[in-house]
Amino acid sequence: MIEIENVRKSFGELEVLKGINLTVDKGEVLTVIGGSGSGKSTLLTCINGLEPIDAGRIVIDGTEVHAKSTDLNKLRQKVGIVFQQWNAFPHLTVLENVMLAPRKVLGLSKAEAEAVAVRQLTHVGLAEKLSVYPNRMSGGQQQRMAIARALAMSPEYMLFDEVTSALDPMLVGEVLDTLRMLASEGMTMICVTHEMKFAREVSDRVAFFHQGVMAEIAPPEQLFDAPQHPETKKFLAATH
Ligand code: ADP
Ligand code: MG
Repeated sequence: MIEIENVRKSFGELEVLKGINLTVDKGEVLTVIGGSGSGKSTLLTCINGLEPIDAGRIVIDGTEVHAKSTDLNKLRQKVGIVFQQWNAFPHLTVLENVMLAPRKVLGLSKAEAEAVAVRQLTHVGLAEKLSVYPNRMSGGQQQRMAIARALAMSPEYMLFDEVTSALDPMLVGEVLDTLRMLASEGMTMICVTHEMKFAREVSDRVAFFHQGVMAEIAPPEQLFDAPQHPETKKFLAATH
């Protein structure tokens, strides 16, 4: 379980997270929506300890993320993150790219890492692409490779930050299908997305962020069909 308690975060004078309170249960799929600059990405990078926080705390399965004693490498194995774009090593094949972290971080043998990488690449539909170089794949395939790479660490939580935003519209569907598959398998996920139809289908709850505040959080049918906060209404009207 991810527990976020009164988290505040500023960049210089700019307060980007203004006291966020949120609990994500094991097996839950939470989507986060909101305008550009509302703090969505910052929240994700705070959750897996890529960014320090100024106040409050984030606790994942009893471990306080920002405590000095916390082993962030260990935490990040448990909490995978996939961004809009991931620059794979161009001189390594898809398989070699996905094997890297299991080899280096988990200390798996070459054979073990290869087995894990093949399994995860197969899982995201890239079994045919093992020996291809990343640049030879479509954007959608590259994003699925990035997801396989995160899954190769056997995470218990996955954070997705607009993983389809940089893709041609034609390629969005295959990546959303991969996220749907993970959700149906019970992966605990926080997905920042602009894909409202996807959010409606896949989420247990949807959180709407506005200017560093979580203005509203509700099950999708409620948030999309009967939003309570005026800013949620405005945002949804503008995105439809
Ligand atoms: P979102 O993902 O909702 O678009 P972000 O969390 O990326 O929003 O950013 C929130 C605000 O914080 C924005 O105004 C952004 O410019 C600012 N910001 C984000 N990261 C940094 C950083 N590393 N340094 C300074 N300002 C930042
Ligand atoms: Mg963002």
